[in-house]
Amino acid sequence: MLNFTFHNPTRIQFGSGQIVALNAEIPDDARVLMIYGGGSIKSNGVYEQVKSALGERPVFEFSGIEPNPRYETLINAVDVIRQNNVDYLLAVGGGSVIDGVKFIAAAACFEGDDPWDIFTKRAPVKRALPIGVVLTLPATGSESNTGAVVTRGEDKLPFASPLVRPAFAILDPQVTLTLSPRQVGNGVVDAFVHTIEQYLTYPVNGKVQDRFAEGLLQTLIEDGPKALSEPDNIEVRANVMWSATLALNGLIGAGVPQDWSTHMIGHELTALYGIDHARTLSLILPAMMKVRRDTKRDKLCQYAERVWNIREGSDEEKISAAIHATEAFFRKMGVPVRLSEVDLGSEAIPTILNQLEKHRMTRLGEHRDIGLDISQRVLETAL
Ligand code: NAP
Ligand code: FE
Repeated sequence: MLNFTFHNPTRIQFGSGQIVALNAEIPDDARVLMIYGGGSIKSNGVYEQVKSALGERPVFEFSGIEPNPRYETLINAVDVIRQNNVDYLLAVGGGSVIDGVKFIAAAACFEGDDPWDIFTKRAPVKRALPIGVVLTLPATGSESNTGAVVTRGEDKLPFASPLVRPAFAILDPQVTLTLSPRQVGNGVVDAFVHTIEQYLTYPVNGKVQDRFAEGLLQTLIEDGPKALSEPDNIEVRANVMWSATLALNGLIGAGVPQDWSTHMIGHELTALYGIDHARTLSLILPAMMKVRRDTKRDKLCQYAERVWNIREGSDEEKISAAIHATEAFFRKMGVPVRLSEVDLGSEAIPTILNQLEKHRMTRLGEHRDIGLDISQRVLETAL
């Protein structure tokens, strides 16, 4: 196990009817900016619940944050904050709204010329407004972590700072009942791949982290498809919601090497072709496993045995069966596993590799040994 510091101060309020907890979470004298997306919260009652829980506080609104939030949209919120002396940000939505709010929180306090430097020049985030979250889509873990991904033009780039970790997050599984099957599938797959990025690494990791990760993977494999086939089953929704948060709140990643190569290649597919985040991951991960099967051999065998209960056959057979099972699970969740299914052919590969090079994503993986040559093989394998 590697040395680590683990400190996750986001207070989680979990369960049906918990949106009322907003009142106790946000200071009475706060001037709140409620930030949301394209309006799903207006049709499913979340908007009214939030407004009523905020009571008499002055509440301003900023809406229209798109999936894969765009810098050009987010930067407009900074003006609203300054004009109204806002001092507390409330994100109501999925990963896109939460990530967008994290950037807004940092941009509103940024002292340099252009807050985009946070992404391109690693300009330090020295201050940020406090953030609270009402989560409506379990997937990203953004509700209790320090990361965010923002798009500007064809650049989709990540940043992280402990200053933008939400102070609290409300997780009410009831509000996920209005998700479309597509978003349910996406959410389960994103959480699954987050777990894999921190689990399927080598040398073999700490026992505790491994077993936490295996528990999350098995829960998602068991209850992910049920969230589609039994859409009203609230216990299933609760298990999916809590799994997605735990998959990326720092717990299973503490003290272990982390990969993230599938995500970094996936970001380019979203930036270039507008493919949903989780779908970029289902396209890349199986190919990544195939190309890395020798380097990740021991861990892939452990994955086969402990997660998929594949115990028969040689190591090679077990690994092949586990990769096959992963693809079958993704298909059950309704997401694609081949680039041809999203109408991308070999002609797209040089463009994707150019983007990776432009964004300096040329040393990926837990050992920084995935150069453009290996990314190319992964993309070819994904065709
Ligand atoms: P999302 O982009 O936030 O939302 C997708 C769609 O779902 C939106 O159209 C949204 O509509 C709708 N929606 C949300 N909640 C709903 C509900 N309860 N009922 C009906 N519709 C609902 O999806 P996401 O997968 O959570 O976030 C994806 C983004 O997160 C990507 O940009 C990805 O790169 C990023 N990400 C971040 C992290 C991290 O750690 N920070 C990790 C992985 C991925 P409205 O707009 O109308 O609300
Ligand atoms: Fe993700």
